[in-house]
Amino acid sequence: MMLRKMCSALFDLIAPKDLACELCGSERDIVPDTGLCSKCLNDLEQDIIVKRVYRQVMAYAPLVHTGAASHLVYGLKFGGRGYDAYVLSHFMKKAVGNRVPEDVILVPVPQHWTRYLQRGFNPAKYLADELSKRMDCQVVSALKKIRRTAHQTGLDGAARQENLRNAFAVKDSSLVQGKHILLVDDVLTTGATCRACTIPLLLAGAASVICVTATCSDANIQK
Ligand SMILES: [Zn+2]
Repeated sequence: MMLRKMCSALFDLIAPKDLACELCGSERDIVPDTGLCSKCLNDLEQDIIVKRVYRQVMAYAPLVHTGAASHLVYGLKFGGRGYDAYVLSHFMKKAVGNRVPEDVILVPVPQHWTRYLQRGFNPAKYLADELSKRMDCQVVSALKKIRRTAHQTGLDGAARQENLRNAFAVKDSSLVQGKHILLVDDVLTTGATCRACTIPLLLAGAASVICVTATCSDANIQK
């Protein structure tokens, strides 16, 4: 199962892009570098969602986690579809805009190694890889998840924060010291995961942190 997903993801990454719309399958009116036809692209376009995750650290999400957007994230997370990361990264780049300096480095939110073994890949890393190509900057896997945590689903904001407290650590502070960091994850909910990753990055000497995710699933969205 895992091997099949990994092969499928590898195929996605090397296969020619922009041949057909990832959502409706149409081969007409494909918008270059998006993987979508113009209609599906227009249907998805929306205002950027902004959330404060820690002190001055903000998270940006280009899409609400419903309909076609959630379908793309689901394809990435549970189907291992690297091509969905390519499509989502188009929107993520727009959400980042010019909020980060040119020398920013992309740091994906890590999974615990046991989850990695189960899944065979890290969706956040796929998103960071695709986004780095669009932004022409480096991906540095500077964080590790040092303990397994319960699923966040069903927990409120405070419980999510408690569940993730001290769950992430910087592998080596020289990777992030003095660096501007763009933290990359798949879904933003309360911001607890971004916060739990931001704190060790800042403690390790990161110059700044900004977070970007593909979608935001929190109904209580602050604009
Ligand atoms: Zn389409």
